[in-house]
Amino acid sequence: MFCINTASAQWFQNSFQVMGTQAHVEFWLDGEHSDKVSSEQLIALVQQEMQRIDIAMSPYKPKSELSLVNNEAGKEAVKISHELFTLLEESQKIAELSDGAFDITYASVGYQYDYRQKIKPEQDAINSALNAINYRAVALSSKDTTVRFTHPDVKIDLGGIAKGYAVKQSIALLKAEGIKHALVSAGGDTALLGDRRGRPWYVGIKHPRAEKRTAVQLPLTNESISTSGDYERYFIKDGVRYHHIINPKTGDSARKVVSVSIIGKDSTVVDALSTTVFVKGLKGGMAFIDTLPDYEAIIIDNQQTMHMSKGLQQN
Ligand code: AMP
Ligand code: MG
Repeated sequence: MFCINTASAQWFQNSFQVMGTQAHVEFWLDGEHSDKVSSEQLIALVQQEMQRIDIAMSPYKPKSELSLVNNEAGKEAVKISHELFTLLEESQKIAELSDGAFDITYASVGYQYDYRQKIKPEQDAINSALNAINYRAVALSSKDTTVRFTHPDVKIDLGGIAKGYAVKQSIALLKAEGIKHALVSAGGDTALLGDRRGRPWYVGIKHPRAEKRTAVQLPLTNESISTSGDYERYFIKDGVRYHHIINPKTGDSARKVVSVSIIGKDSTVVDALSTTVFVKGLKGGMAFIDTLPDYEAIIIDNQQTMHMSKGLQQN
């Protein structure tokens, strides 16, 4: 853990591995709060919260609530936690809004890719699994908080939204403890509480083709930003890049753009929208974001040109 002391207050920051990525927490603890709660306790709180969400929602943990749903919901309605139900409802709303560009059932094909082992499904396998990609086949009943798949081969995955939810929860926990200035990130998803004490936070968007470089630094206060990139999890085979963001209509990686960042207040929505706009591409993605007044986009196209949505453009 790293900390800077002044007479009455301290900056703390710490990083750890969770949800298959690196998480980072940074906050300002002033004298008033350090009497009640220690920085170690606050960091542990955030870490435990992210681990708890991972344990419930990981598709790689055979006993996670999500895995239970994937195993059972094709056969019968499965009773789920209020938390998972709410996240599924949010996912479904964005699926509707985006005309299926965001679709958690992408996983019906998505699970056949293995980016570490450089394995992609054969076209025949994609074709026969494609009709199981359909968010409308996820039936939610709010009366009894159950989920049921109306197609037996449907699988779901929350990788496009769960990290945004985890950073949102983490910021809420810090806020409840009286913290006023904080940054929490998990992979490409960052949530900010307040400013950096009188100055904005600076959040970088990675250069999509130069790992150690930053494409742009953005001054932000009290916002969330999420970046989806084709360089996060990928392999190249026969000159083609196969990466983790899947076009639900084709079962293939989306290749119209290389990086999408979304800025807005709600980290969960911002996370889902970055994946959505990545699938939609530059033209469709910008047109879509311009219909959502609370959200802005920065898109890097596959010629490595950066584009900003209307709300970010200076007159
Ligand atoms: P992100 O880095 O937020 O764009 O999330 C990428 C993750 O979202 C992938 O690793 C998958 O778990 C998931 N995903 C991929 N394609 C889609 C899609 N079309 N709709 C919803 N989730 C997706
Ligand atoms: Mg996302």
